[in-house]
Amino acid sequence: MQEHIEEVAKNIYRIPIPVPFPMKYVYCYLLKNDEEWVMIDTGLNYKAARDAWLETFNQLQIDLMQVSMIFVTHFHPDHFGLSGWLQEKTGAKVFMSEVEYKMARTVWFKEGIQAEAIANMMRSHGVSDALASSMADNMIHLRKNVLPLPEVSILRSKKLTIADKEWEIIEASGHSDGQLCFYDKKDRMMIVADQVLNKITPNISKWPNASDNPLFQYFNSLSMLKGYDVKRALPGHGVIIDNFIMRIDEILKHHENRLQKIKNVLKGFTTAYEVACQIFKTESFTPHQWRFAMAETLAHLEYLVSTGEIERQQINERFYYSIN
Ligand SMILES: [Zn+2]
Repeated sequence: MQEHIEEVAKNIYRIPIPVPFPMKYVYCYLLKNDEEWVMIDTGLNYKAARDAWLETFNQLQIDLMQVSMIFVTHFHPDHFGLSGWLQEKTGAKVFMSEVEYKMARTVWFKEGIQAEAIANMMRSHGVSDALASSMADNMIHLRKNVLPLPEVSILRSKKLTIADKEWEIIEASGHSDGQLCFYDKKDRMMIVADQVLNKITPNISKWPNASDNPLFQYFNSLSMLKGYDVKRALPGHGVIIDNFIMRIDEILKHHENRLQKIKNVLKGFTTAYEVACQIFKTESFTPHQWRFAMAETLAHLEYLVSTGEIERQQINERFYYSIN
């Protein structure tokens, strides 16, 4: 029994799908469109998530053949991972933005390439060989949770009518390079995926084969989103956001503080690894947590490089940061 399905507006349902991470659920959305159903996001491919979907279909009396379209907001495994399985079951078309589809191809379509690129990036920023290899293993391991891969169509329209609503499709980058948000002007509602979250701050990370300066992009897309009149924002994790602008400002503040903290710990030539050790409580970190801590530290360091506040230098195979 899926107990927590919530009808957030007429014919729009918010569905908690379990994830084996601390945030517990990814929230996916089901929209009833006449006799058809449209999905936004899918979950990670593992048994608890597949069971949650089957129970949801059962409870809402959805015939699998009625699911006609699946929109994936971004390529991260908790959003993209079940799209192939759901496409097999329903025959639905899977849509992504062009940028996100390109990332999905880079990260998931060929085994090991992105994992190796991440391990190399980590080594060049001061991570030990052993830890970098465990990060790569962790990525390779995760790939089984996004298989089978779907056949993807690129979403090019900027407007869609679903569930009697006119949705504006917005690309908001930062958390991912081309993440999709869906805005309903009439009811001042936005499906924001992981762009703005309550309580936790969205992870802003620098990865190989992606944006050089994701934090800069994130700041830009947040200020763009502040221009929308949003009464209720429906996120991919955590509770519904009813103080959209205030929450954006809190998130901006969090990053400002972190940037300041990083500047404070830079002493002489410092690697990103040494910075991460000082700004996170890393003692009991798993390789998975280390991967995100490093990528997040790098996003902040690279932002500071871009503003000219700090400098990056390469000595032999390794990068060092210092205050200008
Ligand atoms: Zn997510």
